Amino acid sequence: MEKYFDYYDNKRTAYQKALEILYRYKISKLPINISRLCSLMKVRLGSYKIFENLIVSLRLENFMINDGFTAIINDSYYTFFNSDKTERRHLTISHELGHIAMGHLETENLACMDGVTVWNRSDKAEPSDLEMFANIFASTLLAPDCVLYDTNINTQKKLMEVTGLDNEESEKKLIHLKSFNHNHSITFLEKAVYYNFRDFIQSFE
Ligand SMILES: [Zn+2]
Repeated sequence: MEKYFDYYDNKRTAYQKALEILYRYKISKLPINISRLCSLMKVRLGSYKIFENLIVSLRLENFMINDGFTAIINDSYYTFFNSDKTERRHLTISHELGHIAMGHLETENLACMDGVTVWNRSDKAEPSDLEMFANIFASTLLAPDCVLYDTNINTQKKLMEVTGLDNEESEKKLIHLKSFNHNHSITFLEKAVYYNFRDFIQSFE
């Protein structure tokens, strides 16, 4: 039972953390500028191509089978991503920001080599709760329900275009948005995020 509540709390934390970041950095339109957000969060962002020399010199090249991964190098966060996967770029980077924002690198790192802490992501890896929490974070950051439910976006194509979600996540989000209105009491944080996005929301009217 206790485990169930931990799990439920963590899902809620992932959702809250994403809203906190939207609010704190005064993000007011979609798709969010992910490179700018990384720089605000002091995360160094670069493609595998750009950082190839660094990645190889730290012997992290095996992690490049993932769409993205994050490392702490000399006390700085680095998020590396596969720039060939353009459709997933926003989602991959946001997912990595989720691991950072939720402190996963500090407590749950998968690999620690030569003082470099690495968090990776692999479709081949066992699905883990932490990966799911990072996905909830990413889906909320890119496509906050409390903003989208008040726009008239109702096709998957439009949702992908506006948010940067991929095919799979946008399909889930559309279903989720339909239920958002009915069984949800709006929190203060959701209201605050909504307020920052009000011009963006109005542009859909
Ligand atoms: Zn991950």
